[in-house]
Amino acid sequence: MDLLKRRIQTDGLILDNSLLKVDSFLNQQIDPELMMKIGEEFVRRFEGEAINKILTIESSGIAISVMTGLLLKVPVIFARKKKPKVASDDVYTAKVYSYTKQESNTIMVSKQFLQKDDNVLIIDDFLANGEAAAGLANIVRQAGANVVGIGIVIEKSFQPGAQKLTDAGYRVESLARIKSFTNGQADFL
Ligand code: 5GP
Repeated sequence: MDLLKRRIQTDGLILDNSLLKVDSFLNQQIDPELMMKIGEEFVRRFEGEAINKILTIESSGIAISVMTGLLLKVPVIFARKKKPKVASDDVYTAKVYSYTKQESNTIMVSKQFLQKDDNVLIIDDFLANGEAAAGLANIVRQAGANVVGIGIVIEKSFQPGAQKLTDAGYRVESLARIKSFTNGQADFL
Protein backbone atom coordinates (compact mmCIF):
# COMPACT_ATOMS: atom_id res chain seq x y z
CA MET A 1 0.00 0.00 0.00
CA ASP A 2 1.97 2.95 -1.36
CA LEU A 3 0.20 5.66 0.64
CA LEU A 4 1.08 3.87 3.87
CA LYS A 5 4.70 3.28 2.83
CA ARG A 6 5.12 6.96 1.99
CA ARG A 7 3.66 7.92 5.34
CA ILE A 8 6.06 5.57 7.15
CA GLN A 9 8.94 7.15 5.23
CA THR A 10 7.95 10.72 5.99
CA ASP A 11 6.61 10.37 9.57
CA GLY A 12 8.12 7.16 10.99
CA LEU A 13 10.93 7.25 13.53
CA ILE A 14 13.29 4.30 13.83
CA LEU A 15 14.58 3.39 17.28
CA ASP A 16 17.48 1.00 17.94
CA ASN A 17 17.31 -0.17 14.32
CA SER A 18 14.41 -2.45 15.22
CA LEU A 19 11.44 -0.43 16.46
CA LEU A 20 9.35 1.86 14.30
CA LYS A 21 7.54 4.71 15.99
CA VAL A 22 4.45 5.85 14.12
CA ASP A 23 2.82 7.87 16.89
CA SER A 24 1.79 10.68 14.56
CA PHE A 25 -0.72 8.63 12.55
CA LEU A 26 -1.31 5.22 14.15
CA ASN A 27 -0.15 4.72 17.73
CA GLN A 28 -1.09 7.93 19.51
CA GLN A 29 -2.40 10.58 17.16
CA ILE A 30 -4.64 8.83 14.65
CA ASP A 31 -5.19 9.87 11.04
CA PRO A 32 -8.80 8.81 10.37
CA GLU A 33 -8.54 9.18 6.58
CA LEU A 34 -5.51 6.91 6.46
CA MET A 35 -7.26 4.46 8.83
CA MET A 36 -10.21 4.34 6.41
CA LYS A 37 -7.90 3.72 3.45
CA ILE A 38 -6.29 0.89 5.44
CA GLY A 39 -9.76 -0.52 6.12
CA GLU A 40 -10.57 -0.37 2.39
CA GLU A 41 -7.37 -2.22 1.58
CA PHE A 42 -8.14 -5.00 4.08
CA VAL A 43 -11.63 -5.32 2.59
CA ARG A 44 -10.11 -5.59 -0.91
CA ARG A 45 -7.55 -8.20 0.15
CA PHE A 46 -10.07 -10.39 1.95
CA GLU A 47 -12.83 -9.96 -0.64
CA GLY A 48 -14.99 -13.06 -1.06
CA GLU A 49 -14.32 -14.31 2.47
CA ALA A 50 -17.37 -14.77 4.69
CA ILE A 51 -16.03 -12.66 7.56
CA ASN A 52 -18.62 -12.05 10.28
CA LYS A 53 -16.37 -10.70 13.07
CA ILE A 54 -13.11 -8.85 13.50
CA LEU A 55 -10.83 -9.52 16.45
CA THR A 56 -8.02 -7.17 17.44
CA ILE A 57 -6.09 -6.17 20.55
CA GLU A 58 -6.19 -2.92 22.49
CA SER A 59 -5.36 -0.23 21.85
CA SER A 60 -3.73 0.44 18.51
CA GLY A 61 -5.62 -2.26 16.63
CA ILE A 62 -8.97 -0.70 17.41
CA ALA A 63 -9.04 2.25 14.99
CA ILE A 64 -8.07 0.20 11.93
CA SER A 65 -10.45 -2.57 12.92
CA VAL A 66 -13.39 -0.23 13.40
CA MET A 67 -12.89 1.20 9.91
CA THR A 68 -12.71 -2.31 8.46
CA GLY A 69 -15.74 -3.41 10.49
CA LEU A 70 -17.70 -0.36 9.32
CA LEU A 71 -17.03 -1.27 5.69
CA LEU A 72 -17.79 -4.98 6.18
CA LYS A 73 -20.74 -4.20 8.51
CA VAL A 74 -19.49 -6.66 11.11
CA PRO A 75 -18.78 -6.20 14.83
CA VAL A 76 -15.28 -5.55 16.14
CA ILE A 77 -14.05 -7.26 19.30
CA PHE A 78 -10.86 -6.24 21.04
CA ALA A 79 -8.87 -8.40 23.40
CA ARG A 80 -8.03 -6.70 26.66
CA LYS A 81 -4.53 -6.71 28.09
CA LYS A 82 -5.74 -6.18 31.67
CA LYS A 83 -8.75 -7.66 33.36
CA PRO A 84 -11.34 -4.92 34.02
CA LYS A 85 -13.01 -4.87 37.47
CA VAL A 86 -16.43 -5.66 36.04
CA ALA A 87 -15.33 -8.43 33.65
CA SER A 88 -16.94 -11.80 34.06
CA ASP A 89 -14.78 -14.84 34.69
CA ASP A 90 -16.17 -16.36 31.56
CA VAL A 91 -13.24 -15.41 29.36
CA TYR A 92 -10.87 -16.95 26.87
CA THR A 93 -7.27 -16.10 27.66
CA ALA A 94 -3.89 -16.45 25.98
CA LYS A 95 -0.39 -15.53 27.12
CA VAL A 96 1.38 -13.01 24.91
CA TYR A 97 4.93 -11.78 25.29
CA SER A 98 5.19 -8.12 24.34
CA TYR A 99 8.24 -7.41 22.24
CA THR A 100 8.08 -3.65 22.74
CA LYS A 101 7.39 -3.76 26.51
CA GLN A 102 9.46 -6.88 27.22
CA GLU A 103 6.79 -8.35 29.48
CA SER A 104 4.16 -11.07 29.34
CA ASN A 105 0.47 -10.19 29.32
CA THR A 106 -2.54 -12.41 29.58
CA ILE A 107 -4.95 -11.18 26.93
CA MET A 108 -8.63 -11.93 27.28
CA VAL A 109 -11.92 -11.92 25.41
CA SER A 110 -15.33 -12.57 26.99
CA LYS A 111 -16.72 -15.90 25.83
CA GLN A 112 -20.04 -14.30 24.91
CA PHE A 113 -18.49 -12.52 21.92
CA LEU A 114 -17.13 -15.56 20.04
CA GLN A 115 -19.16 -18.51 18.83
CA LYS A 116 -18.08 -21.66 17.09
CA ASP A 117 -19.67 -20.77 13.74
CA ASP A 118 -17.81 -17.43 13.53
CA ASN A 119 -15.43 -16.57 10.68
CA VAL A 120 -13.00 -14.16 12.23
CA LEU A 121 -10.57 -11.72 10.64
CA ILE A 122 -7.71 -10.89 13.03
CA ILE A 123 -6.25 -7.39 12.66
CA ASP A 124 -3.26 -5.74 14.34
CA ASP A 125 -1.05 -2.72 13.79
CA PHE A 126 2.38 -4.42 13.82
CA LEU A 127 3.70 -7.91 13.24
CA ALA A 128 7.11 -8.67 14.75
CA ASN A 129 7.53 -12.05 16.47
CA GLY A 130 3.90 -12.98 15.93
CA GLU A 131 3.05 -13.26 19.62
CA ALA A 132 0.01 -10.98 19.62
CA ALA A 133 -1.49 -12.46 16.43
CA ALA A 134 -0.83 -16.03 17.59
CA GLY A 135 -2.50 -15.24 20.93
CA LEU A 136 -5.56 -13.87 19.16
CA ALA A 137 -5.70 -16.91 16.86
CA ASN A 138 -5.42 -19.15 19.91
CA ILE A 139 -8.47 -17.43 21.44
CA VAL A 140 -10.48 -17.87 18.22
CA ARG A 141 -9.59 -21.57 18.20
CA GLN A 142 -10.58 -21.96 21.88
CA ALA A 143 -14.03 -20.72 20.85
CA GLY A 144 -14.11 -23.37 18.11
CA ALA A 145 -14.35 -20.58 15.52
CA ASN A 146 -12.46 -20.16 12.24
CA VAL A 147 -9.59 -17.72 11.56
CA VAL A 148 -10.17 -16.39 8.03
CA GLY A 149 -6.85 -14.57 8.01
CA ILE A 150 -4.61 -12.05 9.71
CA GLY A 151 -4.48 -8.45 8.47
CA ILE A 152 -1.44 -6.46 9.54
CA VAL A 153 -0.69 -2.80 8.89
CA ILE A 154 3.10 -2.94 9.26
CA GLU A 155 5.06 -6.19 9.10
CA LYS A 156 8.69 -6.21 10.16
CA SER A 157 9.68 -9.05 7.86
CA PHE A 158 13.16 -9.33 9.38
CA GLN A 159 11.48 -10.74 12.50
CA PRO A 160 10.02 -14.26 12.45
CA GLY A 161 6.29 -13.58 13.06
CA ALA A 162 5.02 -13.63 9.46
CA GLN A 163 6.85 -16.88 8.66
CA LYS A 164 5.68 -18.51 11.90
CA LEU A 165 2.03 -17.65 11.25
CA THR A 166 2.23 -18.71 7.59
CA ASP A 167 3.85 -22.01 8.62
CA ALA A 168 1.01 -22.51 11.10
CA GLY A 169 -1.40 -22.30 8.14
CA TYR A 170 -2.71 -18.77 8.54
CA ARG A 171 -3.16 -16.37 5.65
CA VAL A 172 -1.24 -13.19 6.51
CA GLU A 173 -1.90 -9.97 4.59
CA SER A 174 0.46 -7.13 5.52
CA LEU A 175 0.00 -3.70 3.95
CA ALA A 176 3.63 -2.60 4.38
CA ARG A 177 6.43 -5.15 4.69
CA ILE A 178 9.73 -3.85 6.01
CA LYS A 179 12.77 -5.94 5.16
CA SER A 180 15.28 -3.79 7.05
CA PHE A 181 16.09 -0.40 8.47
CA THR A 182 19.12 1.37 7.04
CA ASN A 183 20.37 4.88 7.74
CA GLY A 184 17.17 5.81 9.53
CA GLN A 185 14.96 4.67 6.63
CA ALA A 186 12.67 1.70 6.19
CA ASP A 187 13.41 -0.58 3.22
CA PHE A 188 10.31 -2.32 1.94
CA LEU A 189 10.01 -5.77 0.39
P1 5GP B 1 4.57 -9.36 18.05
O1 5GP B 1 3.53 -9.83 19.01
O2 5GP B 1 4.30 -9.76 16.63
O3 5GP B 1 5.97 -9.72 18.49
O4 5GP B 1 4.55 -7.79 18.09
C1 5GP B 1 3.41 -7.11 17.68
C2 5GP B 1 2.93 -6.19 18.75
O5 5GP B 1 4.01 -5.49 19.36
C3 5GP B 1 2.01 -5.17 18.13
O6 5GP B 1 0.73 -5.33 18.69
C4 5GP B 1 2.61 -3.83 18.49
O7 5GP B 1 1.84 -3.22 19.48
C5 5GP B 1 3.96 -4.11 19.09
N1 5GP B 1 5.11 -3.81 18.18
C6 5GP B 1 6.03 -4.68 17.72
N2 5GP B 1 6.96 -4.06 17.00
C7 5GP B 1 6.64 -2.76 16.98
C8 5GP B 1 7.24 -1.59 16.39
O8 5GP B 1 8.29 -1.60 15.72
N3 5GP B 1 6.60 -0.41 16.60
C9 5GP B 1 5.45 -0.32 17.32
N4 5GP B 1 4.89 0.89 17.45
N5 5GP B 1 4.86 -1.39 17.91
C10 5GP B 1 5.45 -2.60 17.74
